[in-house]
Amino acid sequence: TPRVFSGIKPSGGLTLGNYLGAIKRFVGMQGQMETLYCVVDLHAITVWQDPVELRHATREVAAGYLAAGLDPAQSILFNQARVSQHAELGWIFNCVARVGWMNRMTQFKDKAGANAEQVSLGLYAYPSLMAADILLYHATHVPVGEDQKQHVELTRDIAAKFNHDYKVDFFPQTIPVIDGPATRVMNLRDGTKKMSKSGESDMERINMRDDADTIAKKFKKAKTDPAALPDTLDELRDRPEARNLIDIYAALSDATPEAVITEFAGAGWGRFKPALADLAVDRLAPISNEMTRLMDDPAEIDRILTDGADRARAIAAPILSRTAEIVGLLR
Ligand code: ATP
Ligand code: MG
Repeated sequence: TPRVFSGIKPSGGLTLGNYLGAIKRFVGMQGQMETLYCVVDLHAITVWQDPVELRHATREVAAGYLAAGLDPAQSILFNQARVSQHAELGWIFNCVARVGWMNRMTQFKDKAGANAEQVSLGLYAYPSLMAADILLYHATHVPVGEDQKQHVELTRDIAAKFNHDYKVDFFPQTIPVIDGPATRVMNLRDGTKKMSKSGESDMERINMRDDADTIAKKFKKAKTDPAALPDTLDELRDRPEARNLIDIYAALSDATPEAVITEFAGAGWGRFKPALADLAVDRLAPISNEMTRLMDDPAEIDRILTDGADRARAIAAPILSRTAEIVGLLR
């Protein structure tokens, strides 16, 4: 049976990239298949997180899920640390995955930079824990942004190696679902880098909770080129910053990038950027206001996450038990 799993790290405030590339698409899959959406706190601590801020960010990602339309009656919403089976299967997968596979992960290279000797061992092993997150539920579909494609492919490799080594047909081949115009929202100051929660400067991203003035200011200052908008998308091939703003507009208005370029053909940035800011505020403000309301009652968020964890564990526990049995672990 089809089953969806995905997650977001509570490693900072949610961005427009997280909204368009993940949350909005999570909502779209709800009701179509069984859906599990996790706040992946064990992944967040692969880089330093202040404990007080981590608790806050965990609840805030959950509030973002709820405010954007995820419904705890239709989706299982929970945080990873409450379901200990994630870490347990993660360990088993650390023993299945090969060091050479991890060495090929481009995200690790990006995040570690020149500092690879000083980052945590957890950051290096993170894709193996991500495989466990997915396969612990035998998830068949994983909606993610383009940046996670390589990790979902690794998940497939781990499933295949486990099945092969133990001569079983136990873990499924999960399909990465990467569709729509905003699977890679770019940084507003550098169109060759993706927008990230943990990026250096706040000016390079739109946060879901930014106010209208901040959103307008950030788009106004967003890097572009002097040329006006062309008639065809093809002419944007070597203009990544321009293309990014068109794609954001398309995703926010549920239109195709082609339709947006037709609407704004020949317009200058002085016309396009304020229209984009208005659209973003129109879409984000109701969600942000609802997040603020939900964050006033953290006990209610915790209740939803605890209940979700109980439901997640009911699926996870038998799959982990069977895995341990296959491996030969006495429990
Ligand atoms: P961090 O900088 O801490 O890694 P992040 O913004 O990359 O934060 P993640 O928690 O790593 O967010 O990713 C959560 C989900 O959001 C993933 O499915 C990821 O692919 C998606 N996502 C993240 N950034 C973007 C982006 N710029 N465009 C589209 N999707 C994105
Ligand atoms: Mg990331």
